Amino acid sequence: MIELKGIDVSPGIVIGKAFLYTEEKYFIPKYDIPLDQIKNEYARFLSAVKSATDEMKLLVTQADREVSKYEGRLLDSHILMINDLDFKSTVKKKLSENKKNVEWIVSQVIDEIIEKLNSLGDDYLKERSEDFLDISQRLIRNLLNMEKNTLSDIHDEVIIISHSLLPSDILSMDKSKVKGIATDGGGKTSHIAILTRSFEIPAVIGLGYVTQHVNTGDEVIIDGNKGRVIINPDEETKTAYVNSRIEWQRHELQLKNLAHLKGKTKDGTHIDLKANIEVIEEINPVRAHGADGIGLFRSEFLFLQPGKVPTEEDQYLLYSSVLEKMENKPVTIRTLDFGGEKIAPLTRDKSEENPILGWRAVRFYLSHPEVFRTQMRALLRSSVKGNLRIMFPMISSCDELDKILEMTDEVKKKLDKDKIEYKKDIPIGIMIEVPSAALTSDILAKKVAFFSIGTNDLIQYTIAVDRCNEKVAYLYEPLHPAVLRLIKIVVDNARDAGIPCEMCGEMAGDPFFISLLVGLGLRGLSMSPYRIPEAKKFISSFSLDEVIDLTRRVLEMKSALDINKTIISWAGGRFDINSV
Ligand code: PEP
Ligand code: MG
Repeated sequence: MIELKGIDVSPGIVIGKAFLYTEEKYFIPKYDIPLDQIKNEYARFLSAVKSATDEMKLLVTQADREVSKYEGRLLDSHILMINDLDFKSTVKKKLSENKKNVEWIVSQVIDEIIEKLNSLGDDYLKERSEDFLDISQRLIRNLLNMEKNTLSDIHDEVIIISHSLLPSDILSMDKSKVKGIATDGGGKTSHIAILTRSFEIPAVIGLGYVTQHVNTGDEVIIDGNKGRVIINPDEETKTAYVNSRIEWQRHELQLKNLAHLKGKTKDGTHIDLKANIEVIEEINPVRAHGADGIGLFRSEFLFLQPGKVPTEEDQYLLYSSVLEKMENKPVTIRTLDFGGEKIAPLTRDKSEENPILGWRAVRFYLSHPEVFRTQMRALLRSSVKGNLRIMFPMISSCDELDKILEMTDEVKKKLDKDKIEYKKDIPIGIMIEVPSAALTSDILAKKVAFFSIGTNDLIQYTIAVDRCNEKVAYLYEPLHPAVLRLIKIVVDNARDAGIPCEMCGEMAGDPFFISLLVGLGLRGLSMSPYRIPEAKKFISSFSLDEVIDLTRRVLEMKSALDINKTIISWAGGRFDINSV
């Protein structure tokens, strides 16, 4: 038995037979081409580009008919990449310089592109090299006239074990047969992370060497809740996981049955429970889990698509579609937050030594107003399609907020001038995720329509602990008295100013903290859609007086450890805090 720990990207527990999916490796011949044949060789390349493009166009139509427009967009971007004029002219140039067969030339050109992307030390660009690998394999297969061996050939239920999965692998796989996924590579912004969550396939990625430990047919357990993969489990471990899976399934079923309920404490106080999403495909889970709306739509995801920077029209169509699908339920779309751990070539400044404290979010728009204006135009135009709220990330001072509000007014004026319709009274709010904003929230509250507390960043900046660094992860403590005091300041200031205050950091979705957050005065929590039913269950198990009393005691405590113990003993008799 071997147990490996990776990144838990999609929850659930599955036990099944492994299917080791190794990437196709074609033998690429290398031979000389006489000078007078170079033209024909290039024509062969153009014809392979055409066949590969036709193949992808067909898949795009399937993607349109099936579940995922995201996959369709990926293929569209691959079509653009394969037909890129620079790419074609590089192949042409290398053909005449090297006088070798075009399969070999194509593999060299793409290897060089991938090497360049990998050498930049940028996670986003590294993940984009997946796209080039994908188009390279498709092109070479067409040049060699070979059949593709795809994941669509799977006939039994399996757990896919792979080094990494290409977008086209995910597109072609029969999702009803794929029970779980484990990969050697992959990061939090990889396609696989987002797609497995959207399709609710339990997945653990970033395992390092899982492919070296597994053979097809091995028994494998994927624990997507805790990021663990167990290969050939012993009887005792298997029995334990069979039981945990039954528990998990029962728990999920019970919770899904609660989806239609409202988030209400025992005494009837309503708590708004909304969802955090990154891609439009997540709207089905948002509805299925009974969300009151979308509390955080991280709009930067659209900008992480390979191939192109989205235009105003691309953005308008996406936002409108999200609003229409949510049928007038509130949708909070956050303007771009690139920087720190969120990477995009558009904003990446390699010279930054400390990007988390650097040129990100609102700071980026102030020096690139055109990016902000385009997004605001798209957002304001889409506002007539539903119940939109716009939110600015990473505000750290009143001056910064004033500038961004001024830029917003300019965009509105231009829309008025162009006679373009938008909702005049659209609520504009800010994220409170920087301690300076929390401490001056009384001033900020007078200028905006709502607050949403982003604890992921607020904790990192308050305790000076990088939220992505495993070495200091033990210091990342939501119950640190400093964090709780800041949350209290923000909630109190919002209440005094008469504006709503929600929380959309990960802390809001963790049942362990929910009682405390409600006790602190929060009446809106936004979280991963699948956590909503369990949050409803928790909330219905206490009354407001009880949690206010708990919070009063906790706020007098000196350490996170004491607070932790107090919550455990308080929760003890009411519900099993460890079962979720
Ligand atoms: C946060 O910082 O809490 C937050 C919700 O934003 P993100 O995780 O996108 O930085
Ligand atoms: Mg943040």
